[in-house]
Amino acid sequence: MNSIALLILIFISLEFIFNTFAAIMNLKNLHLVAPEPVRDVFTKSEYKKSQEYLRHNTIFELFTESVKFFILLLFWLTGGFQVLDKYVTTFGMPDILSGLIYIGLILSAYILLGLLSSIYSVFVIEEKFGFNKTKPLLFVSDFLKTIILFLLIGMPIIFLILWFFEYMGNLAWVYCWGLVVVTSIFIQIVAPIWIMPLFNKFTNLPDGSLKNKIFEYAKEVGFEFKNIQIMDGSKRSSKSNAFFTGFGKNKKIAFFDTMMKDHPEDEIIAVLAHEIGHYKLKHIFKATLLSIVNSGIIFLMMSLVIKSQVIFDAFYIENISIYAGFIIFGILYSPISLLTSIFSNYYSRKNEINADKWSIETTGLVVELSEALKRLARNNLVNLSPHPLYVFLNYTHPPLIRRLEIIKKNR
Ligand SMILES: [Zn+2]
Repeated sequence: MNSIALLILIFISLEFIFNTFAAIMNLKNLHLVAPEPVRDVFTKSEYKKSQEYLRHNTIFELFTESVKFFILLLFWLTGGFQVLDKYVTTFGMPDILSGLIYIGLILSAYILLGLLSSIYSVFVIEEKFGFNKTKPLLFVSDFLKTIILFLLIGMPIIFLILWFFEYMGNLAWVYCWGLVVVTSIFIQIVAPIWIMPLFNKFTNLPDGSLKNKIFEYAKEVGFEFKNIQIMDGSKRSSKSNAFFTGFGKNKKIAFFDTMMKDHPEDEIIAVLAHEIGHYKLKHIFKATLLSIVNSGIIFLMMSLVIKSQVIFDAFYIENISIYAGFIIFGILYSPISLLTSIFSNYYSRKNEINADKWSIETTGLVVELSEALKRLARNNLVNLSPHPLYVFLNYTHPPLIRRLEIIKKNR
């Protein structure tokens, strides 16, 4: 093992140990009684259930992360990357096609692991806690649709990335960057029209007082949108949410049907105002810009790694190839992404607080927003006392209790 290999090993091990440590601290942070502000919504047994839910999920997550980590180490240290490279070159195909097979095989193993863990997660854990409504047939069709979408959209992108790096010289990373930016904007535009309806049924919100209130509010704050729809989220899970998609005047507001059932109208307005706040405060625009910059940096870093002999030596690969470099970069990027996600999570938590503020200022529904968040937290069995380190690393939203405190101050 050369010194670069040792360094990489230390980095990815540290990342694994650090994440594991944070998850264990998070588990140890459970309290005996529910925090005071939520006692009216979380009964004793619901609070206990939320802790059990956290325990099950954490242990399962630690298990799957360990399995993935050890499979990676085993594959790497026994020269798996080289063996696979030799295998795909025996077909005597052009480099880019060998590359698609190489990447396809590694991704298949990854997808298989993901499939096994989501079967357990949906049909054992979610089932045990009464969330799961997904029938096996729906699960299979969801999986197949996702794979087909990946083959139709993901594989051509990988093909083009390999092609750019093969033929476009030093500027390949700029082409890749452009490609990814254009495709992701395109997907954001077509997702509500072509992709989401493949998985869910959307029906228009019926006429009535809720619809009127929404139109009135949107007009007041100058939010243009096309329609409001209800999504049949209940066919998969009893958890609930609200969101909007699309660009410009074509924006579509969508509520999970589960949410319509559980919340009074004013709570729905308070939550909707929060979502619109993200849009009006330009959070969505800024987040998109940040991810564009981030993907540029990723491709620049990739172009530096992808042809470096020492790194191929560290992975015991004899011949430098773009496709193996692609996979190696994925491994090296993981510890770096820990740092970028700390930054983006911090930014996202800050935006959540400001969207809450927006909701309160434009609707005046302070109590309703708090009540809606509490009810959402209870219905989704959210952890009420996450450890600060775990929040720092993983939370895109502030913990519920913190959020309620800030809302109270804004009153
Ligand atoms: Zn939000």
